[in-house]
Amino acid sequence: MSDKLLRLKKNVILRNMCAETSFLSDQLIQPIFISEKVSDKKSIPGLGDNFVFNIQDALKQIENDLKNDCRNFLLFLIPSEKKELDFNLNFQSEAISQVKNFFKDDIFLWADVCLCSMTTHGHCCVFDKSQNIDIKKSLSSLSKTAVTYADAGIDGIAPSDMMDGRTNKIRLALDENNYDLIPIMSYSSKFASNFYGPFRDAADSTPSFGDRKHYQLDYRNKNDALRASTRCAEEGADLLMVKPGLYSLDLIQPINNLTGLMVGAYQVSGEYAGINLASENNLLELNKGLFESWHVMKRAGAQFIITYGARKSKELGFSVK
Ligand SMILES: [Zn+2]
Repeated sequence: MSDKLLRLKKNVILRNMCAETSFLSDQLIQPIFISEKVSDKKSIPGLGDNFVFNIQDALKQIENDLKNDCRNFLLFLIPSEKKELDFNLNFQSEAISQVKNFFKDDIFLWADVCLCSMTTHGHCCVFDKSQNIDIKKSLSSLSKTAVTYADAGIDGIAPSDMMDGRTNKIRLALDENNYDLIPIMSYSSKFASNFYGPFRDAADSTPSFGDRKHYQLDYRNKNDALRASTRCAEEGADLLMVKPGLYSLDLIQPINNLTGLMVGAYQVSGEYAGINLASENNLLELNKGLFESWHVMKRAGAQFIITYGARKSKELGFSVK
């Protein structure tokens, strides 16, 4: 008997028939940055056709993305005012309500919920006088932000701060305000990674001192990462996520097995920029590189992928339906 892997590779029809991973464009989520501080759209080094927009330009970009079958978005909202506490959420509310009023249910709109774009120090939390994390004030600011975003019409909440207990607190706050049907897509296993550089530039959230290793996960540790996602599931998250996605492939299926919840992967800015910059230097073809990277995350068990290339769905042959 001859054991030949070649037999099922004869042509594209047979290869497609035997493809184990495929997905819909709605399983790709496109990040959108909207800042109160930009008048003209601002490019983000390394991220190709991604920009930081004002509200009007963001509407135009989303309109264009819709024509390309991209209709699942994750908003990052950047106000100009930075504070230590009692954050002003007017700009964020305005941005969400304008986007939702314009596109209604033609799009699904998630919002990242964190404090780092609002704090004077750029960290994802509130500090007490001794520069320790004030968990109580951090959680109350995060849950207030989530409810304010819900008031503005957001479809889904995506907390990314990694504070202990945030998912529980946000879920309770949403429920108390009759937003019990708004899902939480938690950044449940988020590492203190070196691959967030282009994002921090765009989101204006580089810490002014120290780093995020005292609240994000240590990339040397698998058990902590599993525990973090398990806890988010117990606290009421509807969807879980690993970040950075390509550097967390080993966690996706184990988290799904432990929790029974769907797990997504965030192809973070540094990962995306690596592929994009290689393509700009003719070292690979961007679309083909992205295509492969997304299928690898799918192969590892990812249900959905947040990627700066989601708007390429149509170009790459994914279908909405
Ligand atoms: Zn943050």
